[in-house]
Amino acid sequence: MEERYLAKTIEEKWQRIWAENQSFRASEDPAARKYYVLEMFPYPSGRIHMGHVRNYSIGDVVARYQRMRGYSVLHPMGWDAFGLPAENAAIERRVHPGAWTQENILYMKTQLKRMGLSYDWQREIATCDPDYYRWNQWIFLKFYQRGLAYKKSSSVNWCPSCETVLANEQVIDGVCWRCDSTVTQKELDQWFFRITDYAEQLLADLEQLTGWPDKVISMQRNWIGKSVGAEILFPLIGREGALKVFTTRQDTVYGATFVSIAVEHPLALELSQGTGQEQAVREFIDRIKKSSQASRGAADTEKEGVLTGAYCQNPFTQERIPVYLANFVLMEYGTGAVMAVPAHDQRDFEFALKYRLPVRVVIQPQGMALRAEKLAQAYVDEGVMVNSGPFSGLSNTEGKNKIATYLEERGLGKNSVRYRLRDWGVSRQRYWGTPIPIIYCEKCGAMPVPEDQLPVSLPTDVPFSGKGGSPLLESKTFISACCPQCGGAGRRETDTMDTFVDSSWYFLRYASPRFDSAPFDHQKAAYWMPVNQYIGGVEHAVLHLLYARFFTKALRDMGLAPVGEPFTNLLTQGMVSKETYRCVEHNWLFPGELVGSENGGWKCPQCDRSVIRGRVEKMSKSKKNIVDPEDLVDRYGADTARLFTLFAAPPEKDLEWSDQGVEGAYRFLARLWRFVGQHRELMREVSSNLLEAELPPDLCEVRRVIHRTIKKVTDDIDTRFHFNTAIAAIMELFNSLSAAAQHEGRLQAGASLLKGGLEAMILLLSPFVPHIANELWYQLGHSERLDQVPWPSYSEAALREDTLLIVVQVNGKVRSKITVPADMDRSRIEAEALQDEKVRNMVGNRKVAKVVYVPRRLVNIVVEG
Ligand SMILES: [Zn+2]
Ligand SMILES: [Zn+2]
Ligand SMILES: [Zn+2]
Repeated sequence: MEERYLAKTIEEKWQRIWAENQSFRASEDPAARKYYVLEMFPYPSGRIHMGHVRNYSIGDVVARYQRMRGYSVLHPMGWDAFGLPAENAAIERRVHPGAWTQENILYMKTQLKRMGLSYDWQREIATCDPDYYRWNQWIFLKFYQRGLAYKKSSSVNWCPSCETVLANEQVIDGVCWRCDSTVTQKELDQWFFRITDYAEQLLADLEQLTGWPDKVISMQRNWIGKSVGAEILFPLIGREGALKVFTTRQDTVYGATFVSIAVEHPLALELSQGTGQEQAVREFIDRIKKSSQASRGAADTEKEGVLTGAYCQNPFTQERIPVYLANFVLMEYGTGAVMAVPAHDQRDFEFALKYRLPVRVVIQPQGMALRAEKLAQAYVDEGVMVNSGPFSGLSNTEGKNKIATYLEERGLGKNSVRYRLRDWGVSRQRYWGTPIPIIYCEKCGAMPVPEDQLPVSLPTDVPFSGKGGSPLLESKTFISACCPQCGGAGRRETDTMDTFVDSSWYFLRYASPRFDSAPFDHQKAAYWMPVNQYIGGVEHAVLHLLYARFFTKALRDMGLAPVGEPFTNLLTQGMVSKETYRCVEHNWLFPGELVGSENGGWKCPQCDRSVIRGRVEKMSKSKKNIVDPEDLVDRYGADTARLFTLFAAPPEKDLEWSDQGVEGAYRFLARLWRFVGQHRELMREVSSNLLEAELPPDLCEVRRVIHRTIKKVTDDIDTRFHFNTAIAAIMELFNSLSAAAQHEGRLQAGASLLKGGLEAMILLLSPFVPHIANELWYQLGHSERLDQVPWPSYSEAALREDTLLIVVQVNGKVRSKITVPADMDRSRIEAEALQDEKVRNMVGNRKVAKVVYVPRRLVNIVVEG
């Protein structure tokens, strides 16, 4: 055994052994219970970053642990390989997106292998592979047949910089999620998936997801945004038609003193014609349309509006009330028109104060009269209806139902449920994605490509200029196609699918990645699904995670997917962050380029100004606070990188980078290595025994620590994912073993126990640091690999303490220590303490005034004089 801990040699050796033995190959063993652990697959950007290392190390601990627990484990890896960066690389560097992507995949795969991650590489998939994306097309056609995929002209979010359409989910506070450009609106013919058909199920089934973080559940709930209410028609005065409003507070309809409509409402401009308000309305529309939807919807945005000059009738009070345009009314939610009830809605209240519109109380607390002129804010709570004609005196919840029924009976409106969720626009005017399998024929219209002609492959004769619409428009070989119906000349759809389509079902593909007669083999999917543990970033709370649920349900309803929810448990890991350095003039600086010293102060290398030590922020290239995992692995080895990231913080919390933490992890492994080296000869001579009975008291304590640690690490991994506290417990166990082994006598007397403890510790460590654990196991004389060894178990009996070490003080000073049976009662322990020879000598003939007992720890004898 080498004296020094040579991480690189050990890691290469074990990675080779695992590969040769296909140690992590998953199989559908009918006799074994299955466990499917999955980390969100990466985009092949070129290199892995510390966020990946953290994400995959967490998953690997789970996979290795469950294997040792006897489960048949599926732990696959693949590539979310379509997307914009590949196309941008093509524009900038004149390399084909496919070549660029393949090169990145190869490099990153090598990097992942160096981390010692226990993937079944035979199941590797890449979504840009025609064998994969043909099934995107196949599923698209199934959706099309069932009306779940459809085309419509619509105003879409358009990123002028990426020159593409964005889904609502990809617009964050009015800017592009990818490039931060301000998003504009554009009218285009687009393909949509009817996710809204599943709105209610997606909402209701959130109840089942007890293994998901509350935060993600509530983000999905808000995103779906269900409101139960009513539609009410407010007839226009002096012209045909009515304004249809949606409200969840139909109980307040008698208090509606005006109607507000969105600037996008189809009647917005028309209503002002001939009223003298036309000019003002036009200006208002132009101005408000420029501001983002998000800011218009925000509660703290100043409420503003303009009178349209038109009036409508409140169908309950018969009053003539004005119609306003208001900035805070949005077209995409509800009907684009709201009945304004200033007394009971805060936004309407602020609006009414500003434009001096009437406020009328129609709900008030039980036994208390509210006066409109005294209100300081809207009264939004429950109460009793007043000034509400035949409904006065009812509780407002009862009134809600009665008014809804009344509306339906008289044709004034109807009950209505609204969702904030919109259909999913999947068309992208980009090259590097799945071609949408549709052919347009002059005679027959939009025709689905027949199944036996799939895949519709991406052509290679495409120039990448970065300008204009879809690059596929430029390909002669791609565009022209025969109409599948009449055989006439047809033209292919040139839009490609949103890459979120690719990731909406990839977890099903892993069950049978080479299956070629359907997206997946139903039986194999039935064995593996659902994913027991899914791990990824919280940024996917409403994007990927909602789409994946939708796909699973839609595929289940077609008799394909074996389950209705894809992921039983979800862990959203925190970010990896690090301190930043900045110069006032030259901005962010790499720590490595600073000049000076920690004590003398760091200086900017360019201007010699003092450097500002900035906040701890998420690692990013732009802030120059990244650590390249490859450097880390080169310097310390993969086990150190894994141990540090798993030890520094619980998985769901942010992890702050610390060079000292990395050093500490390395030193621990090096100490462990030396310890085994020192005691290896002795350890190989004895057999291990975790339940060794005949032991001196201090070794009894070591035995307890061993069993306690096995229990704690098992609980921490199994139920809580508290890897950091598990590792801390293992480190404490190592300290106990090291201390015991320092005494030659104890080492000899307890050799079997110490060996048992050491072996248990290696097993407990193996999911975290698999290479060194396997090597130490081997050095202790074992021939199996650790993935073949069962997880250690503890004995409840050995957990119990059978003796206690009690400190004995005389007048507060420690004078002796006694060992007593753990079940001895207080009076006997006090008597034993008084009988102790050293204590007797100290007390002598003096009188004992009192005895203080601290249970299980200490006896203090207070004497007089
Ligand atoms: Zn963009
Ligand atoms: Zn045709
Ligand atoms: Zn500078």
